[in-house]
Amino acid sequence: MDKKVLNKIIKKLNMKKNDILETIDRELQNEIDDIKSENITGDIVDTANTAYDLLVNSKLSEKEQEKLGEIRDALKRVEENVYGRCVACGNNIEEKRLLAIPEAKKCIVCKATEEKRIY
Ligand SMILES: [Zn+2]
Repeated sequence: MDKKVLNKIIKKLNMKKNDILETIDRELQNEIDDIKSENITGDIVDTANTAYDLLVNSKLSEKEQEKLGEIRDALKRVEENVYGRCVACGNNIEEKRLLAIPEAKKCIVCKATEEKRIY
């Protein structure tokens, strides 16, 4: 893969990662504010833990955590020099696809097969 393209993708991955971390932080802060406004007693650490538990259990954060995991995986594959290779068939993933979905780890053919199997 062209180094320029790869650098662009790495930048995208890092931006996405920061976006998700910010969203999770914001949600966490909202949960903490909610709990505080409900006057639940307990020290601040307990409150934070409760808020975090709530967040971890919420559907939205589940999706975000999953996304975050995918992005971290992709960055790891960059480090290991295997980025852009389909984890299922070993072929190179289309550059166009990687630019659109930088965390993609399967080529379009394998992804389509996987989706057909699920639904
Ligand atoms: Zn494949």
